[in-house]
Amino acid sequence: MPSVNEQPIPAARPVIGEEEIEAAVRVLRSGRVVQGPEVAAFEESFADLVDGRHCVAVNSGTSALHLLLMALNIGPGDEVVVPSFSFAASANAIRLVGADAVFVDIDPDTFCVDPAAVEAAITPRTAAIMPVHLYGHPAAMDRITAIADKHKLAVVEDACQAHAAALNGTPVGAFGAGGTFSFYPTKNMHSLEGGMITVADAELARTLRLLRNQGMEQRYANEIVGANVRMTDVAAAVGRVQLAKLNGWTEQRIANAAYLTEHITAPNVVTPVVAEGARHIYHQYTIRVRGDREAAMAKLTEAGVGNAVYYPTPIHRLKPYWEPDQKAGRTWDLPETEKAAAEVVSLPVHPLLTQSDLERIVTAVNALGENL
Ligand SMILES: *Cc1c(COP(=O)(O)O)cnc(C)c1O
Repeated sequence: MPSVNEQPIPAARPVIGEEEIEAAVRVLRSGRVVQGPEVAAFEESFADLVDGRHCVAVNSGTSALHLLLMALNIGPGDEVVVPSFSFAASANAIRLVGADAVFVDIDPDTFCVDPAAVEAAITPRTAAIMPVHLYGHPAAMDRITAIADKHKLAVVEDACQAHAAALNGTPVGAFGAGGTFSFYPTKNMHSLEGGMITVADAELARTLRLLRNQGMEQRYANEIVGANVRMTDVAAAVGRVQLAKLNGWTEQRIANAAYLTEHITAPNVVTPVVAEGARHIYHQYTIRVRGDREAAMAKLTEAGVGNAVYYPTPIHRLKPYWEPDQKAGRTWDLPETEKAAAEVVSLPVHPLLTQSDLERIVTAVNALGENL
């Protein structure tokens, strides 16, 4: 039990500090709050994180995915290969453009999409592959980009949980035709709400800028049909403050994870695996609990250790996907996905943890013992 002066350790802890508040107030006082110079400066600095790719800021990670699929002309009749073990936004973006999500299984070690399953799922209708860098671990992009090249498919990276993750030195968001990031408050950095699209091709970047703003570059000279998914300058100013702190926070997450992995010894707990060449940035520190997960979570909560399951229901089992598939008699064989959904628990790993927080987490996990 936590003692009276020990507050529970939250699973996530978004930072809205004085600098973020001052940045937002500065923009509010300027009177110019909609997309403007702050957004442009945010895009320019974010490019440093993705090998200098073109960056287009939008109002959420979901909008980033949606717009990128639109810009790649993916739509009705197309299939996009995506892991079911992800946040619903990955597949929602596919359905929002009228394409079909083809769900594939994950690698049980990294929780990211299994490249062999990706290749097996390709059909003449496949237009793109959407790997998800789940929990901050990069998907096997070397193999996935090779498969995509062989079959002439676009790769759309869902890097919404993986700011500054990398594989063999290449940052996520710099592998495929395009990558997408989220700046939701619980992500490794935020802009209140927000998202970023990172692309290699300048023409694609221009199309994305048009799509985010009613199809206009020049006011009232609409070139195409677009939406309004612009980021505000208030959000961008907060995002710039956070981006400047991201490196330090990421190092702290990696150090926190290393401590947890070194000290967690409970026999029925599997600590995160890092693939060779991968830079895992621990958006989540996710263990597998072999045994009664609900009981384990209740014990952790009782010990004041925040915990959460991402995600208890794989996307293919969510109603908007499950029901049409049932009607069409379509089933997915995703044993590793089902197993992960039943076993995973994420523990606090955020950069504000103290050494005593880390010790409490380890003690609570190890106290789960052998008889889960
Ligand atoms: C958060 C997240 C998104 C969506 O980002 P929002 O900013 O919340 O719209 C998409 N994919 C994954 C994997 C995410 O974790």
